Amino acid sequence: MQAEGPILNAGAALGYNTTSMSPRRLTPLLLVMMVLAAGPALAQDKGSVNPKPLPPLANPNDPKVAAKELFARKLLPSTGPAHVIGSYTKGCIGGAEQMPLNGGNWQVMRLSRNRNYGHPAMIALIKRLAANAHKDAGWPGILVGDIAQPRGGPALSGHASHQIGLDADIWLTPMPDRRLSREEREEMSAVMMVREDRLDIDPKVFTPSHVLVLRDAAQEPAVQRIFVNAAIKKALCREAKGDRAWLSKIRPWWGHDYHFHIRMRCPPGAGECEGQPSQSEDEGCKASDLAYWFSDGVLHPKPPEVPPKPKPPMTLAQMPAACKAVLRAGDAKR
Ligand SMILES: [Zn+2]
Repeated sequence: MQAEGPILNAGAALGYNTTSMSPRRLTPLLLVMMVLAAGPALAQDKGSVNPKPLPPLANPNDPKVAAKELFARKLLPSTGPAHVIGSYTKGCIGGAEQMPLNGGNWQVMRLSRNRNYGHPAMIALIKRLAANAHKDAGWPGILVGDIAQPRGGPALSGHASHQIGLDADIWLTPMPDRRLSREEREEMSAVMMVREDRLDIDPKVFTPSHVLVLRDAAQEPAVQRIFVNAAIKKALCREAKGDRAWLSKIRPWWGHDYHFHIRMRCPPGAGECEGQPSQSEDEGCKASDLAYWFSDGVLHPKPPEVPPKPKPPMTLAQMPAACKAVLRAGDAKR
């Protein structure tokens, strides 16, 4: 759907439909599910310092078992080199790398979720972004949210995407200038960047340094898209100076008012990785580009009269066949 404008391309963004769904074409039911899935509660999910291990599955070979139950029980990556299989919303990764929990300019949050694994190119990119946020925006560093599970795949809560180690959530709250405790990493809340009327950012918390951090991320050649709340996109359009080409990668999406979401392209040579088509190079800053996101139906969605019937979860058989081997492979050494 090359004819679609930038906003429509953003509709395919999180891959709720694998090809070219646009927000305008979403069914009300799906829309409500997405609003719920992207709501502030998600961004603010707290973890626990002593998470309970998941109980073993009675019959893990039952073909009806949800794939998320299988992937959530893998606590380490598989052995072997990095290997991306499938798409952002239906896939897995072998040989993932763990993001170190602390670095010069970053700290990983919500450790109990065990979602700090990614493709080595993603881990390298986050480290570079952390250094750039320090250099360019004066931040002590960045707070790293969910990347992917040790073997990717669907998760028990939260995202539809983040399945192949090429998506990462970065908090919009700058890293404090000290080492956070284990408790703080589970309990600390991110800061809401969007004004109460949802029409613009809150200038008390969204500062010019945020523009620089988002620009640093978007200017990475391997980054294909960055998802932010429409109010943040609007602010970036207003405030970006000089070269503005990077704005085309910044896509409005539901939620994303506490964190931004980086999506990388398939790495070169990753033949089993199913990426997304390249996007328009338009800045996406015209009033007409953003109008949909500030329409009443999006800002104040009405709950459906009949609650949507939950879709049955994806099974392993519905995923790319090679993900079976990723699940069965041995654990990489810690
Ligand atoms: Zn995300």
